[in-house]
Amino acid sequence: MNLVPTRIQLNRPLPPLTYLAPEGLPAGVRVRVRVRNSLAVGLCMGLEPTPPSAKLRPIDAVIDPFPLLPAKLRELQAFAARYYGCLEAHLLPLSLPQALLPHWEADEDGQKLSFHRERGAWDVLAELGEAWHRDPSLLPTLLHRTMIRGAGFTEVRLTGAPHPPRVTPAQAKLLLALEEAGGSLMEPELLEAAGVGTSVLGTLEKRGLVQRLKRVDLLAQQREAGVDRTVVFSDEQQAAFESVALGAFAVHLLQGVTGSGKTEVYLALAEQVLAAGKRVLWLVPEIGLTGRLLDRLEARFPGRVAVGHAGLNAGEKHGDVVRLLFNGADLFVGVRNAVMAPLRDIGLIIVDEEHEGSYKSEEHPRIHARDLAIKRAQLEGCPIVLGSATPSLESWQAAKAGRYRLLQLRLRPVGVSLPSVEVVDLRDVYRLLRKKVILSPVLLEALTGVLARGEQSLLLLNRRGYENFWMCRACGKTLGCPHCAISLTYHRGDFRLRCHLCAHETVPPEACPDCGAEHLRGVGEGTEQVEEHLNRLFPTARILRLDRDTTRRRGSLEAGLLAAELGEVDILVGTQMLAKGHTFPRLTLVGVLNADQGLKVADFRASERTFQLLTQVAGRAGRAEWPGRVILQTYSPDHPAITHALGQDFEGFAASELPFREGLGYPPFTALSLYRAEADTLPEARAALEDFRQRLSVPGLRVLGPLEAPVPRVKDRWRMHLLLKGGRGALSEVLARHPLPSSGLIQVDRDPLQFG
Ligand code: ADP
Ligand code: ZN
Repeated sequence: MNLVPTRIQLNRPLPPLTYLAPEGLPAGVRVRVRVRNSLAVGLCMGLEPTPPSAKLRPIDAVIDPFPLLPAKLRELQAFAARYYGCLEAHLLPLSLPQALLPHWEADEDGQKLSFHRERGAWDVLAELGEAWHRDPSLLPTLLHRTMIRGAGFTEVRLTGAPHPPRVTPAQAKLLLALEEAGGSLMEPELLEAAGVGTSVLGTLEKRGLVQRLKRVDLLAQQREAGVDRTVVFSDEQQAAFESVALGAFAVHLLQGVTGSGKTEVYLALAEQVLAAGKRVLWLVPEIGLTGRLLDRLEARFPGRVAVGHAGLNAGEKHGDVVRLLFNGADLFVGVRNAVMAPLRDIGLIIVDEEHEGSYKSEEHPRIHARDLAIKRAQLEGCPIVLGSATPSLESWQAAKAGRYRLLQLRLRPVGVSLPSVEVVDLRDVYRLLRKKVILSPVLLEALTGVLARGEQSLLLLNRRGYENFWMCRACGKTLGCPHCAISLTYHRGDFRLRCHLCAHETVPPEACPDCGAEHLRGVGEGTEQVEEHLNRLFPTARILRLDRDTTRRRGSLEAGLLAAELGEVDILVGTQMLAKGHTFPRLTLVGVLNADQGLKVADFRASERTFQLLTQVAGRAGRAEWPGRVILQTYSPDHPAITHALGQDFEGFAASELPFREGLGYPPFTALSLYRAEADTLPEARAALEDFRQRLSVPGLRVLGPLEAPVPRVKDRWRMHLLLKGGRGALSEVLARHPLPSSGLIQVDRDPLQFG
């Protein structure tokens, strides 16, 4: 066997190493190599064209019978590494579960490998690899049996079977916890509440005392039959469907309000692609909010759907990615990182809610999944559909300029009505009542009416906590975080002032720490206070608050939304997490308590985000036989973000916003690269950027800064920004020509979305 110099990428944030490997070893195959005295798993990245002169070691063994990473995906990673200024090694973990590229150590003679945590997944994979070798057709079944526990959350219920005379103490704990919760709980919550392990649950299930229901089944059970009734397309849907040509790269922007039938179009396209033996990559902004979509997919394509969970436990996550590796699934649904999923032969990519900020990673590597999805479609030579009611202005402008194909759904299907939207001018309310109120008289009256009719309301306030900050009325100081340059938020539930950027919290002081006066005042109500206010006003109403504070536990957001969907909640109050994705059948009133909130942020996208949020939350109200009403409370009723949201008029909004962007030279008319420096002192951060700026030698750039970041200190680190404006090509050239200083003080953020 002829051995040749080969690049081997280890699972470490370093460039590949060079080893001798058999000629023709395909890239994407895992190998075992020796690194100093231990063994490690690496990924073959292909031939090394310029091997170092030092003597090379041969690899130890080839692990896989076929490449884990498809060639097109490796091309995508190479592109992304160049574009975002990172190593390919930074991107590998997005494609392969940690278990498949473990760091591991071996004893001296390299015989016994000691895995720390992930042994299970590894063993199964090795077994599967062998089986695959023997008979590829066996795999799907094999996978189903061994690894796949299915998508979604599991609810545990008491079956009502007669209580047996004897149970173990652990079983008793679990049964009691269930009783206390009213007979049912999501599995992770139950195990936490009872403080017992899964095996106890398994035993009780075998004894017939409890029953486990996958959430998908559960929803299907509750809902009226025919989740996947086949629809007859409207003319617009038909036109959109027909203009997406399979088998060639093109970007399509599908614009239509919530409920206009975009998903039905995606489903029909996916069906065609799957029938042709190709695969579908389907990106969604948040997996927690896609229960209904998963139902629809599973109903339409039974057994062919895999889900990329972010933040679920390792087993579930690996299960579905491993299925992909072995072609055990044809449609992959996932959030941001799913754009790097090891899916082969893609025939269609869908990016739903393409405008959502969650597609952009706010940690290194700061990839944008929508943009990479477009690149991936180009590499695969397949169409991509970006869908939204309120497209990003970047995508909208590209469609207007003819680079993307615009498909619009202007009509809602029969039986679905647009809600009526009205504005309450909070300045008038203040003049009338001579005080600040949470609920204006109009909203209060509407809320009372809805409660009386047994319908649901949703109140949105994009600020959690009880009061936004505390201020001393004697000296005017606000109570700030000692580690960050922001004020502390008061949480009444556990009587704490808390920093929303770091973990700092403190018991609220009696007196001002600066001047000693006992004149501390809370300013700016948050969701916690609204909830309390509502409880006082409507003591018998069932009120549910959903925000980051109440949904920390895994599954609790799901459970809350499910309760609302099943009509067990009268008033939902919460932050923007309520605006997305879900439809509550009996929701007839949406109130936005302070529509201006997002407008005050110093960010050129403030208007765009506000418009998106208001349009989205308004779209929650009113389905079929329940006409909806939306009330926006605002101090600036004439702001374009608000006036256009009233009529859900995306095009009007875009027309008013784009000239402003063009005038100031902001995206979509130029591209941005944000260089962020972080250091122990401000001068240090500034010096790093000054130095970088001095050396810049790429023409056609506008350079702004270094400037203090809007929040100049976070977790005791000082932050400065340097903003580069210019064409994408010039910004890429900066990355290629000006490597970041090895001090690690500077990070680059291409196409930044957050400037905080
Ligand atoms: P979107 O993705 O734009 O929010 P959906 O595709 O989810 O919209 O459609 C909203 C609802 O209307 C769904 O229940 C869907 O089944 C239904 N629907 C969509 N298109 C049609 C149609 N042509 N005829 C009847 N019902 C439809
Ligand atoms: Zn802090």
